[in-house]
Amino acid sequence: MTEPAPMTEPAPMTEPAPTTAPAAGPGSALDRELHELADKQVALGEMRGSPSVNPVNEPMIRHWLDAMGDTNPAYLDQGVAPPAMIQVWTMPGLRRDVKERSPVDDMIARLTDTGFTGVVATNCEQTYHRPARLGERLTPATRFSGLVGPKQTALGEGYFATWNVTWYGDGDDPVAEMMFRILKFRPRQRASEKAPEKAPERQEPKQPYPLRPAVNEDTAFFWEGVRKGELRIQRCSDCGELRHPPGPVCPSCRSANRTHIVSSGEGVVYSYVVHHHPPVPGRETPFVVAVVELPEGVRIVGNIVDCPTDAVGIGMSLRATYRAMDDELILPMWAPRET
Ligand code: ZN
Repeated sequence: MTEPAPMTEPAPMTEPAPTTAPAAGPGSALDRELHELADKQVALGEMRGSPSVNPVNEPMIRHWLDAMGDTNPAYLDQGVAPPAMIQVWTMPGLRRDVKERSPVDDMIARLTDTGFTGVVATNCEQTYHRPARLGERLTPATRFSGLVGPKQTALGEGYFATWNVTWYGDGDDPVAEMMFRILKFRPRQRASEKAPEKAPERQEPKQPYPLRPAVNEDTAFFWEGVRKGELRIQRCSDCGELRHPPGPVCPSCRSANRTHIVSSGEGVVYSYVVHHHPPVPGRETPFVVAVVELPEGVRIVGNIVDCPTDAVGIGMSLRATYRAMDDELILPMWAPRET
């Protein structure tokens, strides 16, 4: 995943930590118990779920292509689903009445019960063996592949839990696989909840901002620009189309040659939400997450600052501003533009 805009990262979900959480730490009784349970879950091996309720079907593919803005006719012309839809077919839905247990559930439940209530997804890798075909019912199979920890992270102490899902097709052959990893963590206490033991004069080093953007080959130019106070937009070297978020290939002409422009740093609110809940580490709620339309013709997701949340409106004029979140990280944000 190569999203450069930090506000598009999934917000970690946290519940209040029980105050009676037993002590963790490497080699503690709790740590041993968690690793014993993990070994047991790994030993269960691959457990099959039920075949998908709906077969691979044209209406769901059309909705997905529409939502993604993918106009490639190849999928329906050839009677196959876009490979990246793989999870869609076997998602259980919110109001399911039958709960199928997988080897992952007991591990996650035990981590939650012992105080590791926060969760944030850290890795997802999908491998596609062949496209799923129209009419086919896929069957997911899950195996728990390991627990690593305890680790001290910027979010708090936690364990990394990894599992693998394989989707089997009608011929019982693997269609796709996914490796998924989450961090289950004990949320750090908020400053306001800490006992005021230390002398207030003492200057604490600035806490590292916990949500770091994913910087990779495709997005490094964007973050270099941010450090220089420039809002850079990726541009196809061949057809000239601008695109954001940055990616490896031009969606218009499929060229992998790319360069960038420096935008004017102006924009208008295209759409926005006011985030009240859940709590986000390192941020105070409420805050505004907006889709900002640039005069150059692309949209970008970011926070609106220096403005009461109830004063934000669609069409509002903005200018880019750059905020130091800690000693190293600068994030681009948006402030009202004086006209
Ligand atoms: Zn192009």
